[in-house]
Amino acid sequence: MKVQIEEMRLDGNAIGGLLREIFTVEMTSAVGTCASCGAVNEVGRVQVYSHAAGTVVRCPGCEQVLMKIVRGGGRCWVDMTGVRCLEFVLD
Ligand SMILES: [Zn+2]
Repeated sequence: MKVQIEEMRLDGNAIGGLLREIFTVEMTSAVGTCASCGAVNEVGRVQVYSHAAGTVVRCPGCEQVLMKIVRGGGRCWVDMTGVRCLEFVLD
């Protein structure tokens, strides 16, 4: 199972389009602070696991879940419990 999950892993650039759709600005260079370990990483460096309608974003430092994004039926749910702070440049 561990191997299968590792094979599914992408980097944060994989969710650049999805996050741009939600936040309406370029997000791959946004900087997030992990609520668990305090690591600060650009979105482009996080670990991304996408499956069907759901996307899970994990901290590259401690592997805790930073974000969960689910899309379906014309709606989007974004759980950012694992991100203490998200900093990005406004267009
Ligand atoms: Zn962390």
